[in-house]
Amino acid sequence: TYPVHAEIQGPIVMIGFGSIGRGTLPLLERHFTFDRSRFTVIDPRDADRGLLDERGLRFLQQSITRKNYEEVLTPLLTGGKGPGFIVNLSVDTGSLDLMRFARRIGAFYIDTVVEPWLGFYFDDKLSNADRTNYALRSAVRKEARKHPGGRTAVSCCGANPGMVSWFVKQALLDVAEEVGLQFDEPKAADREGWAKLMRKVGVKGVHVAERDTQRACEPKPMNVFWNTWSVEGFISEGMQPAELGWGTHERWMPKTARRHKKKSAPSIYLEQPGAATRVRTWCPTPGAQHGFLVTHNEAVSISDYYTVRDKHDDVVYRPTCHYSYHPSNDAVLSLHELFGAAGRIQPTHHVLTENELVDGADELGVLLYGHEKNAYWYGSRLSLAEARRLAPYQNATGLQVSSAILAGMVWALENPEAGIVEADEMDFRRCLEIQRPYLGPVKGYYTDWHPLSDRPGLFKEDIDETDPWQFRNVLVR
Ligand code: NAD
Repeated sequence: TYPVHAEIQGPIVMIGFGSIGRGTLPLLERHFTFDRSRFTVIDPRDADRGLLDERGLRFLQQSITRKNYEEVLTPLLTGGKGPGFIVNLSVDTGSLDLMRFARRIGAFYIDTVVEPWLGFYFDDKLSNADRTNYALRSAVRKEARKHPGGRTAVSCCGANPGMVSWFVKQALLDVAEEVGLQFDEPKAADREGWAKLMRKVGVKGVHVAERDTQRACEPKPMNVFWNTWSVEGFISEGMQPAELGWGTHERWMPKTARRHKKKSAPSIYLEQPGAATRVRTWCPTPGAQHGFLVTHNEAVSISDYYTVRDKHDDVVYRPTCHYSYHPSNDAVLSLHELFGAAGRIQPTHHVLTENELVDGADELGVLLYGHEKNAYWYGSRLSLAEARRLAPYQNATGLQVSSAILAGMVWALENPEAGIVEADEMDFRRCLEIQRPYLGPVKGYYTDWHPLSDRPGLFKEDIDETDPWQFRNVLVR
């Protein structure tokens, strides 16, 4: 018996039925009541349509494109009672157009990344600045400002981006308490209050620090790309420029760093692919590790959300924020192969299922650093074994994502006129309450590790010994 969190009164359209779509389906069945005759899944590949056939759910074998989306989606989402829900779990489907369309017809909308239409990620006519998540996110934020309120559309609500923004708030409260600060918890909608608290606690930055130790039964053959979630998605973001929210404590930039034209941009980017950019970070199981500085929406959104401005609107505080991702060993090997072949993408892509993996866990959390207690990691340590027990058709990585989608959908239904929102703006307690049963142990760990621990070693290094938490010390060079 699973708690039913809400009723979805209108039709549901799930766009994309890959690793995340498959995993999300059983959670929707468990936790929502809805009209099964008005549920449609759309995907150009029919590899898993058996799961839909056995449930009597409608499947449309088709790509959603810039040209056809209104024509295909309108009849599926209008007519009959209740507002519809678009659950966009596909690659290459323009998030901004789809959320505009959804709101126009009164439907709810959720996605897990600001996805551009097909062709964007590898368009060599675009500048690298245009290929950043800052650019993608800015378009969505502009739409939110231009048309505030109205039907709720949740932007970027997976594990990360998504859940990690809820972790940041819990972690911040934990550290504030640990350092003995007198404070009142800011209200859910009090962005400024949260930003001021972050500043008061003295957090210099946040790593979204992840280690995926899930191991495949078979060794990876040459010339295939294996991952524990979308290969297309990972390659696309990995080939975007490395990108990070840029904190006010930073004193140094690498030569490849670029600022955006707009002065108020909370982030910078590097003229190098994120999946070939390594940073030093820390997770509870491995301890110190290298992760890839792959760009993500949350690197920009978290730095933006926790920015404090003075009365002249000048920025007086902002934390650095970036992803520090050690994917599964097979994905690391796949990337190594890809970059070794001058970026030639392997012809075969595969997402490892829960049955093709033997063991391991996805450890995904936020490392709040630079405060009085040095650093604090707070997050989910979901093992493959536990993921298998909790829900079907997904590995540990998938379940962290699909359960965040579930939480985001519940929040949207409970807040139906919130406009376009990101995870930072949602009620983190409510969202984590819904998601927590699917996350394995969710805990916090203090560490005395910092990016200068055990350095320099045998070789001379360009480091800043006056402040271990400078990006100069974090970036692997
Ligand atoms: P996947 O590659 O396993 O599946 C994507 C599916 O979309 C495929 O079945 C593909 O055929 C389908 N598809 C491709 N183009 C389409 C189109 N034009 N119209 C309809 N369907 C189309 O990917 P996944 O692992 O399921 O990931 C889905 C999305 O979720 C990706 O955008 C990925 O980046 C994102 N994601 C986000 C997070 C997060 O934490 N925020 C985590 C994992 C994945």
